[in-house]
Amino acid sequence: MTADKIAANKMLQRMIVDFTTTELAPLDMIIDKNQDYPEGLFQKVVDNGLLGMTLPREFGGAGFDFIAAAEALNHMAKGNASMAVTLEGHFKTVEQFLKYGTDELNQKYLPTATKRIFAFSQTEASGGSNPAGISTRAVKQGDNWVITGDKIMITNGGLAEVYCVLAKTEDDQMAVFVVDQDMPGFSFGKREDFIGLRGTPVGEIVMDHIVVPSYHLLGTVGEGHDIGNNAHDDARVLMGAVLTGILEHELQIAIDYTKQRKALDTPLYELQIIQEKLTDIAIAKQNTKLLYEDGARNKVAGEPYSEVAAMAKSYGSRAAVSAGDKALQILAGYGYSREYPIEHLIRDARAMEIAEGTVEKMNMEISLKEVNK
Ligand SMILES: Cc1cc2nc3c(=O)[nH]c(=O)nc-3n(C[C@H](O)[C@H](O)[C@H](O)COP(=O)(O)OP(=O)(O)OC[C@H]3O[C@@H](n4cnc5c(N)ncnc54)[C@H](O)[C@@H]3O)c2cc1C
Repeated sequence: MTADKIAANKMLQRMIVDFTTTELAPLDMIIDKNQDYPEGLFQKVVDNGLLGMTLPREFGGAGFDFIAAAEALNHMAKGNASMAVTLEGHFKTVEQFLKYGTDELNQKYLPTATKRIFAFSQTEASGGSNPAGISTRAVKQGDNWVITGDKIMITNGGLAEVYCVLAKTEDDQMAVFVVDQDMPGFSFGKREDFIGLRGTPVGEIVMDHIVVPSYHLLGTVGEGHDIGNNAHDDARVLMGAVLTGILEHELQIAIDYTKQRKALDTPLYELQIIQEKLTDIAIAKQNTKLLYEDGARNKVAGEPYSEVAAMAKSYGSRAAVSAGDKALQILAGYGYSREYPIEHLIRDARAMEIAEGTVEKMNMEISLKEVNK
C-alpha cells in the first residue's frame, strides 16, 4: 500500500469514528425504540459522502477499497449497527454493478450512487434460502425486458431508489435486472416489523410490468444465481465487520460495568467467573475481526474469499448473540432492562444469523468446500 493510500485510509477511519461518536452513538437507543432514523440523520450520511465510499473516483466516489470500507463499517457498528447495515446493503450492490454492469448501465447509474441508495433483492414470500423457487418473471419484448413480481424483506426497501432484482426468464433461467423506483409499475409494499436492526428499513417492492432496456441486465441471462452468490459473499465480509463492531460494543459495556459495580468491596472485574465471560467476549470479537479482515484482503487481492466470508458471518453472528448473552449476565438485572443497550445488541446480531444466507445455508457451503478441498 502506498503512503498516500495509508494516509487517506487513516483520515477515513478517523472521520467515521468522529461521525459515529457525535452523530450515531448518542441516537442508538432512540433508533431502536422508534424503529427509524431520526429526521435528517440519513441526509448527514449522504452529505458526508459516505454512500460513495467504495465507488471508484471516475464515477464521483471516494474510491476506497473493500478493506477500508469493512473497517469503516466495523467502527460505525460500534455506535449503531443499523446504519452500518444500511451502508453494507448499498456497498454490496454497488460491487455487483462494478463486476457485472455494462458500461451504459454503469455510466447511467453509478454517478448517482453517492446520493441514491442501491439495494439487492432476491427473497420472495415463497422462500429466501432457495432462490430457484422465485416467481418474479422477466419477459423479453424487443429490445426491452418486462419485469413482474414481488420481493420481500429487502434491506433498505423504501429508502433505496435503485434495485437489482433476481428474476426468471421465460426459459427458466436466472437473471438479475436493475429497476428504478421512478419507473412506471414500481411501488413499495409493507415494511417489516423486525425485532433487531430496527433503524434499517427492510421492506417489500412490487413490480408490475416494469419495462427496462436490455442494458439493465447485469451479466448474462443464466448468471443470476452466481451474481446473487457474489452479492452474498460481499455482504458477508461487511456483515463480519458489523458484527465485530457489535462485539466491541458488548465488550465495552461489560467492561465499563465491571469497573463500577462491586460485589460488596470487590469490583466485578476482579472475580474470576466474570473474567471468564469478558475473556470469551474478547476472543469472539478478535476471531470475527480476523475472519472479516481475511475476507476483505482476499477480495481485494483477487483471491477466493467466499468461504472465509461465510465463516465471518456464520461464526460472528452466533458469537455476537452468545457474547451479548454473557454481557447481559454480567449486568444481570440492568442487562435485562431496556434501559441498557445489551438486549438490543443481541437482537441486532441475531438478524445476521438470517440475512444474506442463514447460518444453516452458510454452514452447508463451508462444509462442502472443506469436503471438496
Ligand atoms: C434483517 C434482514 C435483512 C434482509 N435483507 C434482504 C435483502 O436485502 N435482500 C433479500 O433478497 N433478502 C433479504 N432478507 C431475507 C433473507 O435473505 C431471508 O430471510 C433468508 O434468505 C432466509 O429465507 P427465509 O426467511 O425465506 O427462510 P427459508 O428459506 O424458508 O428457511 C427457513 C428455515 O429452513 C432452513 N432451510 C431452508 N432451505 C434449506 C436448505 N436447502 N438446507 C438447509 N436448511 C434450509 C433455513 O436455514 C431456515 O432455518 C433479509 C432478512 C433479514 C432478517
